[in-house]
Amino acid sequence: MVCPYCKEEIADGAIKCKHCQSMLGAGTDSGDVSDRSWVAAILLCFFAGGLGVHWFYAGKIGTGILQLLTFGGLFIWWLIDFIMICMKSFKDINGKYIKNG
Ligand SMILES: [Zn+2]
Repeated sequence: MVCPYCKEEIADGAIKCKHCQSMLGAGTDSGDVSDRSWVAAILLCFFAGGLGVHWFYAGKIGTGILQLLTFGGLFIWWLIDFIMICMKSFKDINGKYIKNG
């Protein structure tokens, strides 16, 4: 892959650019907090959680489809997800917590 800051070639999945020392992906300034909106996630889960929409929003498409097909795991899975988001323990595809905004 290519460093987004200095455009030099770096190892795939590198956390830090060896050329310009910029932090990439995991370990950026935002730490383990997702850029995604917590308010959006909880609203999506509340109104359309049975369709797995909050998983699509989190970037976990496969999990979203699975939840869509099981209709929110007969609501139990949906309820657990809703509680997880309420507690700000819900993670996105990058393993970062969705808890801001
Ligand atoms: Zn760089």
